[in-house]
Amino acid sequence: MNYSPTLLPEIIQAIATTIEDNADTVTQLDQAIGDGDHVINLQRGIDALIQQSSELSRLNWPEAYQKIGMTLLTTMGGASGSLFGTLFISMGKAAKDKELDQQGFASVFSQGVIAVKQRGKAEAGEKTMLDVLIPVAERLVELASTSTEMTEVMAAINGVAEAGVESTRDMLATKGRASFLGERSRGHLDAGAKTSQLIIAAIISVLLTTPA
Ligand code: ADP
Ligand code: MG
Repeated sequence: MNYSPTLLPEIIQAIATTIEDNADTVTQLDQAIGDGDHVINLQRGIDALIQQSSELSRLNWPEAYQKIGMTLLTTMGGASGSLFGTLFISMGKAAKDKELDQQGFASVFSQGVIAVKQRGKAEAGEKTMLDVLIPVAERLVELASTSTEMTEVMAAINGVAEAGVESTRDMLATKGRASFLGERSRGHLDAGAKTSQLIIAAIISVLLTTPA
């Protein structure tokens, strides 16, 4: 089953709501090992996307990904702005002329995550958003090759994303501002990993209530 960009306004609203609901928690995470601005950066990007909601809903997926990426890149600021921007711009490139069925989407998302790794010069295990994005991309590819039911895929992805956030707790930060703290970065969850998980969960919650 393929989803349509007409879902974007509802998805963007669901993301805005979950980030608002978790704003204090995430800000505390970024204050503990960063500079505390992650939620503000992200909300700047989400507000811009809300403004563009109806326009986005009329585009095709490659165009919509490209526009979302450019908007995040130009409005968010912070390390996360260029990284989330890169994710979507690269997904837009990868999605051109591709059917976005389960396998197609898994490949497009994986291309986006590879671009984030290159942009951030980071790998898994460095206590960043990649500790959610990489395992999610890997599991999507795995599940796409086994024709798993959509609801099962989504439950599995939610679980992988939550485990990814939790995995950052004991990691030593070696990228971004948290790396300045060295060993003192251990014992805290990474803010960008947490918001990545919240965003994924919000997208899934909308898709689960969309009739196939
Ligand atoms: P800044 O660190 O510039 O204040 P934000 O607070 O908005 O920007 O975002 C911080 C988040 O960005 C971190 O929690 C981490 O997940 C992510 N991040 C920072 N640097 C990198 C990097 N090099 N690669 C991947 N993710 C990174
Ligand atoms: Mg910050």
